[in-house]
Amino acid sequence: MLEISLPKTIVVGERATEYLKRIEGKRALIITGKTVRRMGFADKVANYLKEAGVESEFFEVEPEPSVETIVRGAELARKYAPDLIVGLGGGSNMDAAKAIWVLYERPDLEVSSINPFIKLGLRRKAKLICIPTTSGSGSEVSWATVITSVTEERKLELANKELVPDIAIIDPEFPMAMPRSLVADTGFDALTHAIEAYVSPLSNDFSDAMALKAIQLIFKYLRRSYVTGDKEAREKMHIASMMAGIAFTNSEVGMVHAIGHVAGGAFHIPHGKLMGIILPYSIEYNSRVAMRKYAEIARAIGIETKTDDEAVKTLLENILQLRRELGIPSSLKEAGVSAEEFERKLEDVSNKTIRSVVLRGNPRTLNLEETKKLYTYIYEGRSVDF
Ligand SMILES: [Zn+2]
Repeated sequence: MLEISLPKTIVVGERATEYLKRIEGKRALIITGKTVRRMGFADKVANYLKEAGVESEFFEVEPEPSVETIVRGAELARKYAPDLIVGLGGGSNMDAAKAIWVLYERPDLEVSSINPFIKLGLRRKAKLICIPTTSGSGSEVSWATVITSVTEERKLELANKELVPDIAIIDPEFPMAMPRSLVADTGFDALTHAIEAYVSPLSNDFSDAMALKAIQLIFKYLRRSYVTGDKEAREKMHIASMMAGIAFTNSEVGMVHAIGHVAGGAFHIPHGKLMGIILPYSIEYNSRVAMRKYAEIARAIGIETKTDDEAVKTLLENILQLRRELGIPSSLKEAGVSAEEFERKLEDVSNKTIRSVVLRGNPRTLNLEETKKLYTYIYEGRSVDF
């Protein structure tokens, strides 16, 4: 049995945010970040809400929000008693909104107790609206929230189907403001969501359809979104990111995210950039068992070769080329991790990685030995040959 999860409402296109003028509610808690506020986006959202008779309060979170920030946000929520929680910004802000919402509705829970198998019983106090300003995380439609445990130097990979927002607003005005480096990083995050969802053993016809269309859009528009940043390209990438989010929520991500979440906590490299670094290695590693699915991806973006093997090789070359053009490093070494730090942390990151819950979504299993080897290859920039 497959239970498909989607927001009740997804509003897409120019002026989509004006949907808020018609929203029903009394008080909104807008979870956002410094940059988004400085750009005036948070005020814009608050003004539309005001037209609907909804008053607003803001709560700012840092990039890659910590458990402590979530706890503070939930305290504010309990005092303010909103009936709408709005996550506005990149993945960090929307993920924070989800976790704050959970603790607001369920003060008896801790952040780390969110998991796919628990009944949360959300929506007794508030609805969740997510409005992405970057085109990568897919958090506006996803069941996932990633929160950083500073003390453990690790990211908590939390997910629950009840976390899929009620309303997602996909307004192309916001991603127009992204600087190029963010277009590159977030674009590779979206691409990784779609590819991992497609090759996952948990994939299905529904997630496959979302993943393939997202991949097609990304190959068609990511380069343009980076180079010229025109409106059509940025809008298409915003849609692709949302579709990739739906894909992995109804399938799963895999080893790129497992490694990326651990490496992100250990080496402090932004999530999207890490996805770009790790994705090609995962294709080399996984194609031994998932060759046919990678070949289907290759054919979906117009690669015409006779054998699956050639198709996957060409797909990989295409991704490496795109990664170079978008200025994403090809290895952890190139990303600035020192050999000393890498050696010192290798054992720990490998151990944490094999315990990652998202590995159940990877087509090929990883044991400790192979994981260490993979890390070394990703550090040095060597092609995976095992
Ligand atoms: Zn991601």
